[in-house]
Amino acid sequence: MNSIPPLDLTRQYETIRDRVNAAVLDILASGRYIGGSAVDRFEERFAEYIGVPEAVSCNSGTDALFLALRALDIGPGDRVITTSFSFIATSEVITAVGATPVFVDIDPETFNLDLDRVEAAVTPDTRAIVPVHLFGRPVDMTGLMAIARKHNLIVIEDCAQATGATWEGKKVGSFGDFGCFSFFPTKNLGACGDGGAVTTSDRALAEKIRVLKNHGQAGRYNSEVLGINSRLDAVQAAILNVKLDDLDGWNDRRRAIANRYGQMLEAVPGVIPPRDCAGGRSVWNQYTIRVEGGARGESRRDRLRADLQKRGVSTMVYYPLPLHLQGVHRDLGYRKGQLPISEQIGNQVLSLPMFPELSEEQQDRVVYSLKDCLESVAIG
Ligand SMILES: *Cc1c(COP(=O)(O)O)cnc(C)c1O
Repeated sequence: MNSIPPLDLTRQYETIRDRVNAAVLDILASGRYIGGSAVDRFEERFAEYIGVPEAVSCNSGTDALFLALRALDIGPGDRVITTSFSFIATSEVITAVGATPVFVDIDPETFNLDLDRVEAAVTPDTRAIVPVHLFGRPVDMTGLMAIARKHNLIVIEDCAQATGATWEGKKVGSFGDFGCFSFFPTKNLGACGDGGAVTTSDRALAEKIRVLKNHGQAGRYNSEVLGINSRLDAVQAAILNVKLDDLDGWNDRRRAIANRYGQMLEAVPGVIPPRDCAGGRSVWNQYTIRVEGGARGESRRDRLRADLQKRGVSTMVYYPLPLHLQGVHRDLGYRKGQLPISEQIGNQVLSLPMFPELSEEQQDRVVYSLKDCLESVAIG
């Protein structure tokens, strides 16, 4: 029996092969490999898709976040509140611009920032909040924007895992000063290489990003500010133009798969399936359950994962070590136990196979295997 991967990019490619190949060959024949109409077209279409006037493409989601912080002059002396439960890129960029990340614990239901704790963490030095729409599930942006407005804070949304997710009918990436997107291949809108974009409703800020991503050049060979080189190349833009046409259909498939997982996993002892939050529509970049229990020092999740692997079901663990305990942030002085929910969730999460092409048969096998393995892994 074939094993079931956590995601399978070859299956998706099969469904769009002819259109992607034609688009790539067009770019190769054009001789225009950096910039050009494919990139312009993607920026226009992506802005329209998110529902904002401006989208600026760049090399990665990490660059998108970095450029957003730089465009708002966030740096030394500034504190930036963010979640302790995310990919390292979220906090690495805050440190990279010289600002101080302030890690806040999460809501165990959504794995997203706990808004009460966000408000409690605001100090006079706080400049910005970076909410992450983790695993495709939107943060409560009504609540978050209210806190930001009350304390006059900048909001930079990390939308790397959530292209097309909505909060109260509006797409994520259209609420804050900036939305930052990644087109890394495994994201729900993924290129065939690196890519990213920044969205904004502020045309002046968009212009600042365009300058910063192009060596700080306002005109040709005239750098006024310290910039970087960060581009979405034409081949990737052409591929993303094709994939954007299919994105809503893929997101719908992810929702159908998530609903079906939810029904099948309801009332399975020791497993907490994720739910869409009221007001939000997730795009289920990951479908991440919590596996409760485990004797001291041994996570029941880890046993379960190993057993599933033996049965040909591959799962993933995002993220076993919360950001406040990462070595790179050691100098911030966080201790183990300080953000207990992130730490506990990090020991419980298990992301099940999730991609639009996952068949019902495969999904059934995932769930049967999971139930079987759970019986043999004592709750302890
Ligand atoms: C992937 C990811 C990023 C970084 O995107 P890259 O394109 O890989 O640089 C940032 N934040 C989150 C939450 C991510 O998942």
